[in-house]
Amino acid sequence: MLPELFLQRMGTQLGEEYEAFLQSLQRPRAVALRMNPLKGEPPTLPFVTEPVPWEPLGYYYDPEARPGLHVFHEAGVYYLQEASAMAPVALLEPQPGEKICDLCAAPGGKSTQIAGRLSGRGMLLCNEVSPKRAKILSRNIERLGVANAVVTNETPAVLAQRFPAFFDRVLVDAPCSGEGMFRKEEAAVTDWSPETVQMCARRQGEILDCAAKMVKPGGRLVYSTCTFAPQEDEEAVEAFLENHPEFVPEPVEAPWFQESGPAMYRMWPHKLLGEGHFAAVLRRMGQPEDSPAPPPGEKLPRQWEDFAKALDIRLPEGRGLRFGETLYWAPAGMPDVTKLRVLRAGLELGTVKKDRFEPAHALALWLKDCRCQVSFPAESDEIKAYLHGEVLPCREKGWCLVKAGSYSLGWGKGDGSQLKNHYPKGLRK
Ligand code: SAM
Repeated sequence: MLPELFLQRMGTQLGEEYEAFLQSLQRPRAVALRMNPLKGEPPTLPFVTEPVPWEPLGYYYDPEARPGLHVFHEAGVYYLQEASAMAPVALLEPQPGEKICDLCAAPGGKSTQIAGRLSGRGMLLCNEVSPKRAKILSRNIERLGVANAVVTNETPAVLAQRFPAFFDRVLVDAPCSGEGMFRKEEAAVTDWSPETVQMCARRQGEILDCAAKMVKPGGRLVYSTCTFAPQEDEEAVEAFLENHPEFVPEPVEAPWFQESGPAMYRMWPHKLLGEGHFAAVLRRMGQPEDSPAPPPGEKLPRQWEDFAKALDIRLPEGRGLRFGETLYWAPAGMPDVTKLRVLRAGLELGTVKKDRFEPAHALALWLKDCRCQVSFPAESDEIKAYLHGEVLPCREKGWCLVKAGSYSLGWGKGDGSQLKNHYPKGLRK
């Protein structure tokens, strides 16, 4: 049962399209996933059906399939993402080498999509204000093998003060009244009220004011919601543009969506295969200035050097960081993040313990190959046993990358006859 006041407003908003809209809400929703280009050549998945038109790596899949339970999901080969939710990053158009901020990022659908488009070059700051959701975001960044992302748990205001005019592109995928998710989430229906819409619109204005400060002159700001309420969509953008004359709409090629204002795009469930979404593309006028030089890195300890040499691991451009025992490899161009709440400062390499080095799970999920590795077919009993935490037969000695087919899954440590399981306990099935 949808709220009466919502239905009345939609009737006025949609006019003769209202019936088609109502009918679309009765139909089962389409489910989709996005292949992760950071994992190399994608596998052939028997359950995918047709491509998502606006995202080259997006595919609808058979609703009877359970791709979230497949080992390829564990290996970060794909991310389950609602099809319309893939649109804002398609409109953001991140380019390899750029500095990007995803300000409201958990659970990470759009951050992992941005990371895929960056192809490991440039840096992504993904932020989530809720500590619990920030942990989920950080785990998804790890699972998808993203090396060049910093995950923070801050308010937009703190980041705006810290990184003025720093980013080439900023995405605000704002918390909203979620009307576009009524078909997907029961809670979105029960939580809805006209007061919620108003409260969301106020909060969106505040978040956008912070985001505006972080965009470089010449840079792009994409604002998106999953609601139909004009107060949170077109009206929010119009109010923003009035308060920020330094921004202008930036129309882009988006033939799949309905233009609902200058550079504003709507995804309607009765017009495409996906839920309701809204996005606006804005540009900050002016010429970019040079970013401040990133701070110097630290020399990583001998234990890491020995490990990396033994396994023939080569890191991309970046710099070493050490937090107590834990080593990270920060992306080139990552600014100083001291005193911020940071969950992940680039690629976690592992921990130094006296004379030993213990590699991080994140390092395994980023690596495609290394000198010591063992692979089992994705559907094999060995892979099931590995995910379960059991030992595996293996002749290797020392740290060894375990793969499902060609996709890395985690670490094991061999003694010449068997492999001790180092798949993280919290992830075991
Ligand atoms: N971009 C995410 C993705 O694609 O997976 C979804 C983001 S969700 C629509 C909005 C996020 O904004 C939520 O994770 C929520 O915790 C966060 N949020 C809530 N209040 C906020 C605030 N005042 N400032 C910034 N973010 C906020």
